[in-house]
Amino acid sequence: MSAAPVKIVLLYQSLLGIYGDHGNAVILTRRLQWRGIDAELVPVEPGDPVPTDGAVYLMGGGEDIAQTTAVHELKTDRGLFTALDNGAVLFAVCAGYQICGKSFTIGARDEIIDGLGLLDIETRRGPERAVGESLSHWTRPDGTSSLITGFENHGGWTQLGSDATPLTSMEVGWGNGDGQTDGAVQGRVYGIYPHGPVLSRNPDLADHLLETALGHPLEPLDMPEIEALRARRIEAVREGRP
Ligand code: GLN
Repeated sequence: MSAAPVKIVLLYQSLLGIYGDHGNAVILTRRLQWRGIDAELVPVEPGDPVPTDGAVYLMGGGEDIAQTTAVHELKTDRGLFTALDNGAVLFAVCAGYQICGKSFTIGARDEIIDGLGLLDIETRRGPERAVGESLSHWTRPDGTSSLITGFENHGGWTQLGSDATPLTSMEVGWGNGDGQTDGAVQGRVYGIYPHGPVLSRNPDLADHLLETALGHPLEPLDMPEIEALRARRIEAVREGRP
């Protein structure tokens, strides 16, 4: 009997999908398939039960009200929490990252909303909106590092508590707001601000998520055209060009 396909679960496109972050799910699925691994992209909308047997779960950016609805739906369903208890990886971008935290604010009145409590972070409206290309340095658990490129667009600024570790350190851009770090990681929950979609621009990070979820290394994919595009983008950001 052949093994079941590896499930890449894309959560709530209709709420957390306005910035094209569904591309992260496509990238993860394709990078498995390009290696001959059977993989399936599973989109889940509010009201659908969240499967508990996924390998990687993804949430993208969205507007304030939509991200609040997503929290309510995920807390009601509980499937994501079960999946994480089972060892799944969660990768969340921007609004998706913010809702993983303990709390975040929405709207002009800065209403405080409780998050999912998966990351020891809190997000509040910052003094200015963080918009633009970003470039940061991500260090893997083995000490090697890669540049992360993306595009950020958020009003919330995020503070990390002691249980969360910054995911990257900034070279260009706001990141968590202070221009020092971007994102957070806690166990198998990863959050970061940039769109792009960020995993298409940063294949090393995509493969790290897959290897963490599968529990074994993956053979490298030689894609010089992606490296050439990355090099051009990194140079443009460093020179302040669009
Ligand atoms: N609404 C959130 C903010 O502005 C998230 C924005 C986003 O997902 N790009 O901070």
